[in-house]
Amino acid sequence: EAKAQGRGTYRIFAPEMDEHLRARLEMEADLRHALAAQQFEIVYQPIYELATSQLRGFEALLRWTHPQRGAVCPARFIPLAEETGLIVDIGAWVLRRACADIMLLPGDLRAAINISPVQLAFGYIVETVSEVLRETGLDPGRLELEITETSLFADDQRNLDVLRRLRALGVRIVLDDFGTGYSSLSHLRLFPLDKIKIDRSFVQEMTHRPDSAAIVDALAALALRLNMTTTAEGIETAEQLEVARRVGCTEGQGYYLGHPQPIRHAFAAATRPLQHLA
Ligand code: C2E
Ligand code: MG
Ligand code: MG
Ligand code: MG
Repeated sequence: EAKAQGRGTYRIFAPEMDEHLRARLEMEADLRHALAAQQFEIVYQPIYELATSQLRGFEALLRWTHPQRGAVCPARFIPLAEETGLIVDIGAWVLRRACADIMLLPGDLRAAINISPVQLAFGYIVETVSEVLRETGLDPGRLELEITETSLFADDQRNLDVLRRLRALGVRIVLDDFGTGYSSLSHLRLFPLDKIKIDRSFVQEMTHRPDSAAIVDALAALALRLNMTTTAEGIETAEQLEVARRVGCTEGQGYYLGHPQPIRHAFAAATRPLQHLA
């Protein structure tokens, strides 16, 4: 600090801003070697079919344990990884790792993997996915790629082409977090989608707001008409599960049904019957 205030230096930021920027640059530098330093881990959250209470698969969620700071949440480091382009390599690692992990599970459970808009736009995503499928031997029908609507804004034609090529590999395309931001019904018509994940803000409102329940009910019906299914995200209570079933969502996911956990716990869940759901 003393050095920064010495003669011949310019102070362009207020001290707290300076601190903020420094922390960010530090985190960015640390993120650069987090992959090589094996600081990433994937946790798996179960997804159930609501009509049958059957386990259908797991969403892979990335975790970063920083050597000094401890656990850093994805909401903090994913944007940084996207701004720096690091998400392309990190995302390829997640794909490879999660597909290999899912192969260890019994049955035909699916892996749902989040794909960043940056990976879609610049990441050779079609090549990466087909390489990973070849390497791991995973049946493409067991892989779901979750994309957000923000991915779709930049260049319709190019996105359409990328999604079609991914789908031609046999994988499923899932629209994540529907109902937040600029959700548009035209996206459901324009892009080849297999599933819509209804954002937890909607799901959690359904129990006390009939209008939210009506919207999800209509959306679930619309999805089926368009040959798509729906997943209710962020189910935290028995009541929310109840309503998600009633309005006709195909699948459910949330803390009430299961927390994201390391693969060995996911494996145990996959082999254990779930009494509390029946
Ligand atoms: P997402 O894809 O919508 O994932 C669902 C998030 O909701 C996860 O947060 C999950 O832990 C959390 N969640 C699940 N059930 C509940 C619930 O009942 N209540 C509440 N309050 N939250 C619940 P997480 O793991 O912190 O991840 C946040 C976001 O970071 C993800 O949102 C996804 O957009 C992104 N992300 C995570 N892993 C990856 C990755 O490998 N690649 C990319 N590109 N993005 C990732
Ligand atoms: Mg997701
Ligand atoms: Mg989501
Ligand atoms: Mg989200």
